[in-house]
Amino acid sequence: MDIVPAPTSARHAKAVGQRRGLVIVHTGPGKGKSTAAFGLALRAHGRGLPVQIYQFMKVPTARFGEHRAFEALGMPIIGLGDGFSWKSRDLTHSAELARGGWERAEATVRAGAHALVVLDEITYPLRYGWVPLQPVLACLRERPAHVHVVLTGRDAPQELIDAADTVTHMGAVKHHFDAGVPAQRGIED
Ligand code: ATP
Ligand code: MG
Repeated sequence: MDIVPAPTSARHAKAVGQRRGLVIVHTGPGKGKSTAAFGLALRAHGRGLPVQIYQFMKVPTARFGEHRAFEALGMPIIGLGDGFSWKSRDLTHSAELARGGWERAEATVRAGAHALVVLDEITYPLRYGWVPLQPVLACLRERPAHVHVVLTGRDAPQELIDAADTVTHMGAVKHHFDAGVPAQRGIED
């Protein structure tokens, strides 16, 4: 006898529309926003789709696990920042970098050569006021129809959530840091 899985949720409306690019937001306080974005990048790459990952808060020279892995796949991550804000000595410089970084990411989204563009941790420069929200929303609205954009970071602005197709809120049910367990190589970095 065939086992037919039941629909997981009545919320899943029957798909009737055309295939098109999605705006996907990973937000919330729990762990997994960036790693889920990297998972999507990997899946898209597996389908032969051109992918570009930008990281707003990481330095261009960062050599975390994701940088090594994606480099080995021929799709290097581009770091646009200078580290976390509380580490950076000169916030004016961080803001300028973030704005320059946004211009670069925007050009990629608008060009349409990449089917998936990840804007990792973009909510932090948005929240700090380093990158204004309205141009980001305009870029998402005006982008070529086939381009998927994944945006990550805590505390996503409501207007971004409203503009998105899919929003996943990572809830911090538990985090090992809270129990004093330090960052683990390959898990945090
Ligand atoms: P990851 O990169 O592991 O997917 P993330 O993108 O969801 O994490 P960020 O807001 O980018 O999380 O935070 C980066 C760092 O903060 C990571 O080292 C992550 O493990 C840690 N972190 C994430 N969630 C929590 C939490 N609830 N409490 C403490 N630290 C956290
Ligand atoms: Mg992250």
